[in-house]
Amino acid sequence: MTFSDLGLRAELLSAVEAQGYTTPTPIQLKAIPAVLKGGDLLASAQTGTGKTAGFTLPMLQRLADGPRPGKRQVRALVLTPTRELAAQVGESVADYGRHLTLKSHVIFGGVGQQPQVDAIRPGLDVLVATPGRLLDLQQQKHVDLSKVEILVLDEADRMLDMGFIHDIKKILRVLPEKRQNLLFSATFSNEIQALANKLLDDPEMIEVARRNTTAELVDQAIYRVDREKKRELLAHLITEHDWHQVLVFTRTKHGANRLAEQLSKQEIPAMAIHGNKSQSARTKALAAFKTGDLQVLVATDIAARGLDIEELPHVVNFELPNVAEDYVHRIGRTGRAGSEGQAVSLVCVDEHGLLKGIERLIKRDLEKRIEPGFEPDPNAKPEPIENGRNRRGGGGGRGGNGQKRGDAGQNRGQGQRRGGEQPTATRRRRRGGGGRQQA
Ligand code: AMP
Repeated sequence: MTFSDLGLRAELLSAVEAQGYTTPTPIQLKAIPAVLKGGDLLASAQTGTGKTAGFTLPMLQRLADGPRPGKRQVRALVLTPTRELAAQVGESVADYGRHLTLKSHVIFGGVGQQPQVDAIRPGLDVLVATPGRLLDLQQQKHVDLSKVEILVLDEADRMLDMGFIHDIKKILRVLPEKRQNLLFSATFSNEIQALANKLLDDPEMIEVARRNTTAELVDQAIYRVDREKKRELLAHLITEHDWHQVLVFTRTKHGANRLAEQLSKQEIPAMAIHGNKSQSARTKALAAFKTGDLQVLVATDIAARGLDIEELPHVVNFELPNVAEDYVHRIGRTGRAGSEGQAVSLVCVDEHGLLKGIERLIKRDLEKRIEPGFEPDPNAKPEPIENGRNRRGGGGGRGGNGQKRGDAGQNRGQGQRRGGEQPTATRRRRRGGGGRQQA
């Protein structure tokens, strides 16, 4: 099956070809015809499955096929949980739509509003946005959503996790009642079901296998090492194997900063991205990393969520995540859509319980290695795992699954945001207090 078999028009086919895609991914095979038919869609798919093209291509085709109003109006609205994802989806819309005459723009919080207002004023067809900033601009009448024909909620579960439900509901109220709704989510909690029931009209359901539970394209290994030797081992592995484009995960923002500094001192160019970094610092670091100028990017889980770095060769878990699913998300940054990747985890005695939890989740034992010169002390005793402000015991055979999700360095409870930007209520309260940067 090829893209042209799916009924896409020539302009889109040549854009797809320019991206180098030859075969549609499973989600694309199912989503493209479903969206072209015009009905609602409920799709279970994670990042890395090709879902963005799965909704963007047919969405652009429907816009290009449909009658165009005299004045350019927002006819398709894509909502995403984080700025990074918004930027990536925006890039895909621009890439796939390059031979069409549709105009698109991306708006998100954490950066100045005026340039966004200026950019959308002349009118546009596709708007990609995070909910909070969109609502701000809509309430100030800078954006008119009354002509939206297609609504996409991308990574809807993350949006709910981040507490965006109220903003989403407010946005839904200003959209026309008759429209096509596409909901993408990696998981289906009761909350997502409730949203889907409210939002979708007789949706087509699509499910594709969680790609990374098997992670067949990712070579995964564990290096057993002492807690204090991790940094040295990391530097050794990077230099010894001449690794480039290494995405390293740490558990805390502070840990990310410290590691990036230490690696840089050892002549391994490294930068950290996390919630205390400004948007421009994050964008700069990500751009340098993507072009290959920056050898190592150190990130917390939230900061890395949704990053799409094509064919990323190496992911390193400098520390294992507290939540086993985050391991799957982390290694999903490598070996994406057909290219092979390598995921290495540096595991000390404190983390044996977390490792067991991960192996249970992915239903396999990971290969254990010991690097000569970095043999772990067999008598080392586990210590509680430091997790930002609060200290918790995550090691010593506890399994790690009983712990709440938490951004590196933040004790975040249920319903609190997971990164990107803040839901409106929180933002309002904090206004004037400065500091709106998050993970
Ligand atoms: P996504 O799940 O949308 O974040 O896409 C993951 C990655 O797969 C992106 O880097 C896309 O450029 C890439 N991709 C999407 N569709 C295809 C395809 N049909 N063939 C190869 N790569 C693809």
